[in-house]
Amino acid sequence: MSDSRFWAVVPAAGLGRRMGSEVPKQYLKALDIPVIEITLRKLAAVPQVQGIVVALAEEDRWWDRLGLTFKKPVRTVIGGEERIHSVLNAVESIAESFTMQDWILVHDAARPCVTLTDIGKLITEVASHPCGGLLAAPIHDTIKLERPEDRDVEETLDRRRLWRALTPQLFRAPLLLKGLRAGARLPHQVTDEASALERLGHHPRLVEGRGDNIKITRPEDLELAELYLAREARALKL
Ligand code: C5P
Repeated sequence: MSDSRFWAVVPAAGLGRRMGSEVPKQYLKALDIPVIEITLRKLAAVPQVQGIVVALAEEDRWWDRLGLTFKKPVRTVIGGEERIHSVLNAVESIAESFTMQDWILVHDAARPCVTLTDIGKLITEVASHPCGGLLAAPIHDTIKLERPEDRDVEETLDRRRLWRALTPQLFRAPLLLKGLRAGARLPHQVTDEASALERLGHHPRLVEGRGDNIKITRPEDLELAELYLAREARALKL
């Protein structure tokens, strides 16, 4: 990947209604630091990442107030209706000269607990993959598929083959752009980058990541994220 260029794209345009907070979840504080700041500082610390594009809601009133500065270029774009539209807008904003050597690392603003070790592992493991891959965690619970008409169980899925898709997800830039453009036309069907590529017939690589790379969605997730971040801070000081 030596002559490759890497951009990180951070969808941060969600309003996070499930948090029940007026402030979107990425702007809530964990250990006194806004979640989005923790996430961006980690991405900026990845040596391969040359710059970051953050997708913000049109009505965002919080970003400017943070007054963040970074040693790498960080620019913003306006996000869209769904996550995929936000990611697409960010990728389009840097798309002029993509080659198959270039990569886009997409990571949710609401996942501050990702570790640099897992990001490095993802980069190493997909380096020679034809399309790219994603961090994912094996499923340990037994998963039931419902029968839609009455919510009785239709079947139990084979959990040995099931994974939870996390972020970052890392893809060859031109393929990602093509997948997102196609997926953005399908309302509510494409909820991560990998599925946009799968729809084009690609098979992204699953790279096992830590299960504590949680997405802050509900208020209790923020408490859990604080525990994980405090543990990480203690470990880094050792
Ligand atoms: O809503 P969800 O939890 O799936 O959001 C995951 C990430 O995508 C969050 O960081 C959120 O800000 C972002 N998002 C976005 N544009 C949307 C919806 C969500 O950038 N329209």
